[in-house]
Amino acid sequence: ITRVAVMTSGGDSPGMNAAIRSVVRSCAYYKIDCVGIYRGYQGLIEADFISMNARSVHNIINKGGTILKSARSKDFMEKEGREKAYNNLIASDIHALVVIGGDGSFTGGMVFNKEFNFPVIGIPGTIDNDIFGTDYTIGYDTALNTVVDVIDKIRDTASSHNRLFFVEVMGRDSGFIALHAGIGAGAEEILIPEEDLGLDRLLDSLQKSRRSGKSSSIVVVAEGDKTGKNVFEIAQFIEKNLPEYEVRVSIMGHMQRGGSPSCFDRVLASRMGVKAVELLLDGKTNLMVGSVNNEMVAVDLELAVKEHHAINKEILRISDIMSV
Ligand code: ATP
Repeated sequence: ITRVAVMTSGGDSPGMNAAIRSVVRSCAYYKIDCVGIYRGYQGLIEADFISMNARSVHNIINKGGTILKSARSKDFMEKEGREKAYNNLIASDIHALVVIGGDGSFTGGMVFNKEFNFPVIGIPGTIDNDIFGTDYTIGYDTALNTVVDVIDKIRDTASSHNRLFFVEVMGRDSGFIALHAGIGAGAEEILIPEEDLGLDRLLDSLQKSRRSGKSSSIVVVAEGDKTGKNVFEIAQFIEKNLPEYEVRVSIMGHMQRGGSPSCFDRVLASRMGVKAVELLLDGKTNLMVGSVNNEMVAVDLELAVKEHHAINKEILRISDIMSV
């Protein structure tokens, strides 16, 4: 392998730039060429490539988003699109592909690897932390800190007005952000996709805390929480049954994806980029780089896609105890 390509794909996350930088600099370190692909698989199909060297990635470790841009590509879902992608890689004499993204992007990489036997390595970049085979994904820590910051601010206004705030955070299938940011920000209750707290139990708990003297409360709700109701419906139900509180809803939205990456994410991304290039140079393929117990490991890409990254039940217990 003497020429490697790198791309970012799917939803962006803070720290993707640090990962690009690490892949590019690792290539420079091992004296192989590196090519950047713009806009994920779509750019691959359109041969939107740029030659990169150690200097092309200066001043980006601190920047959110991705300098290579990210995209979702319908064309790559079709065999015809993937054939074009393959031909472009061969025409540019590229021997391997590093994909920074989430499980959709890894599925694409896996399909591509199977079809053309083209070496692919994945680096998990998503704020959701929903990828199996790694304790942490790049961007998750930054997103957590952003969410905690915002909830701290909401708490100020909540306590000044005796308000009950429902704060919706990202996580359609995964409660990592809600659970950890909820505990970190001292939320009274946390609703996540993995656990069915039930609206009655939520009401009961909020009534109890009201009786115990709490004048304001924060409830963190993951987008895909198990109640099956959206955050406005949940808030309405509580408001109707707990009129002592003024209820408000705050949707955190895309700000969770942005911002300068935390030091944790920058270090994680730097380590993962090096590991990805070293795996390729070792002749390994169809793997994802993971961080397990603070060691860089290689996980079968198929396993990373198929299996579910389960939340730690112990953390749920902590959240229960804290809301006494
Ligand atoms: P996020 O964490 O934001 O969901 P992701 O990497 O999971 O990121 P997706 O939009 O699911 O994002 O996938 C990114 C791209 O990967 C898709 O737009 C598509 O081009 C490609 N892809 C996903 N699934 C497949 C598949 N089964 N076959 C081929 N390509 C795929």
